[in-house]
Amino acid sequence: MSPNEMMLEKSETLTSEQIVELTRKHNYGTWRFQKGWNPMHIVDAEGCYIVDGKGKRYLDFSAQLMCSNLGHKNQVVIDAIAKQAQQLSYAMPGYATEVRAELSKLLVEVLPAGLSKFFFTTSGTEANEAAFKIARMYTGKTKIIARYRSYHGSTTGSIAATGDPRRWAMEPGGKGPGVIFGPEVNCYKCPIRHTYPGCGIACADYLEHMIRNESDVAAVLIEPVVGTNGVLVPPDEYMPKLRKICDEYGVLLIADEVMSGWGRTGEWFAMNHWGVVPDILTTAKGITGAYVPLGLCATSGKIADFFEDHYFAHGHTYEAHPMTLAPAVAAIREMQRMDLVARAKGLEPYLRGKLEELKAKHPSVGDVRGKGLFWAVDLVKNRTTKEPFGTYSDKVAGRPLLVDQIAGKILADGVTIQAWVSHFIIAPPLIITKVQIDFGIDALDRHLSIADALVE
Ligand code: PLP
Repeated sequence: MSPNEMMLEKSETLTSEQIVELTRKHNYGTWRFQKGWNPMHIVDAEGCYIVDGKGKRYLDFSAQLMCSNLGHKNQVVIDAIAKQAQQLSYAMPGYATEVRAELSKLLVEVLPAGLSKFFFTTSGTEANEAAFKIARMYTGKTKIIARYRSYHGSTTGSIAATGDPRRWAMEPGGKGPGVIFGPEVNCYKCPIRHTYPGCGIACADYLEHMIRNESDVAAVLIEPVVGTNGVLVPPDEYMPKLRKICDEYGVLLIADEVMSGWGRTGEWFAMNHWGVVPDILTTAKGITGAYVPLGLCATSGKIADFFEDHYFAHGHTYEAHPMTLAPAVAAIREMQRMDLVARAKGLEPYLRGKLEELKAKHPSVGDVRGKGLFWAVDLVKNRTTKEPFGTYSDKVAGRPLLVDQIAGKILADGVTIQAWVSHFIIAPPLIITKVQIDFGIDALDRHLSIADALVE
C-alpha cells in the first residue's frame, strides 16, 4: 500500500469534503477574509510534489511557503526526527544537549563569518522579535529603521516593522513604538524615482539621511533579498554601502534571512553575495527544510560579549527544543551532501532564461527578477506606466486579484505557485530538475494569456 493510500485509509471516517469543511469551520485562514476560503486537502508529498485528497499530484513550484527547500520526504531528516524523539524529546532551554552543541558547531561553519552566538525560536517572527530586543538592549536605543515593501512577521513588534499594508489591518495596535520606515531598494519601480546606476544608490543615502536626522536609532532592518513583496534584489553596491553607513553611525545592521537564507539565492545566505556580515542575522524556513518549525537569531561576537555582564532578558519554553534542532542538523548535512547551494546557483541561468522567454512572449510580464532559485514574475497592465493588476489596498480589502485567478488555472494544470498582489513567486525545492522547471514554466506560459488580454 502506498503512503498515499495509507493516509486515505486512515481518514476513512472523514471524507475529503468533511476534512475541508472541519478545517474551514474551526480554523482561521490567514491573511484573508474567511469568506471564500476553500483550503485544498493535502494527503501526501514527496520530492517536489504534493498530493491532494483525490490523489492528484502537483508540482510544488514555490516550495510551499518558500520553505520546503529539501523537497518532501527526505529520509535522513525523517530518521533524525524519530531518533531524537526516542532519545530526548524535550529539555529545558537552560540545559546543554548534544544536539544543541552539534547544531551550534554546524551553524558557525555555514553562517557568515563571525555570527557565533545563537538564540533558537520556533518561527521567523520570533527570531525577529528576539533581534529587536537584543538590538535595543545592546545599544540602549529604541528606534528600528525598517523599509517599505518588507515583511518581518505577524506579531506586534514584527508586524510593526513590516513595511507593507498587512500591518494596516493591525493599526493602531500593530504600530509598535520606535519603528520608522525608509525606502525599499527596487530598481524596477524606484520609490524615489531614480535610475540605476546613475542614482549612486540614493535609496541607501536616504537611510543615512534618516539616521542623521533621527535620535535614538538602534538598528537598520532589511531583507537582503525582499521575499513576498516581490523578490527585490539590490544592486551590488547597496549592501557594502549600507554596512559602511551603519558602522559610521554606530547603528546595528539586522539581516532578516528568514526566506532568503539556506541556499535559496545560490549562496548559503543572501548576504554572502556581497561579502557583508550583518550584526544580527535572523532566519527560519529552510533551516530544517520546513520539516519542523525552527527559527534562529544569530549575533556577532561583540554583541555576545556585551551580554557576558548584562542581563539577557529574553526566553521561551520551547527555545532550543531538541525536536526542532535534530532535523536542522540533518537538513544542513543533507544540503551539504547534495551540494544544494551550488545546485541553486547552477540552475539560475536556466530558470532565468525560461523567465526571460516568458517576458519576451507575454506583454503582461513587466519584469522578471531574482537570484538562484528565487524569482518573481511581475505583471503589469502597461509596460510603460508599470501599473500593476492589483494593489496592496485590493489585497487587504479582500478584492479579487488577477494573480489569484491565474494561480487557480495553473493549479488545475498540476502546479502550485505563490501569487502575491500582482506577481508570482517561483521558489521551488532546491532539488528541482530542469524537466520539472519546464513543467512549471509551461503552466505559467499557458495562463498568462489571461493577463495579456487585459494589457492596455
Ligand atoms: N521574515 C521574512 C523575510 C519572512 O519571509 C517571513 C515569513 O514569510 C517572516 C519573517 C516570518 O516568519 P514566520 O512565518 O516563520 O513567523
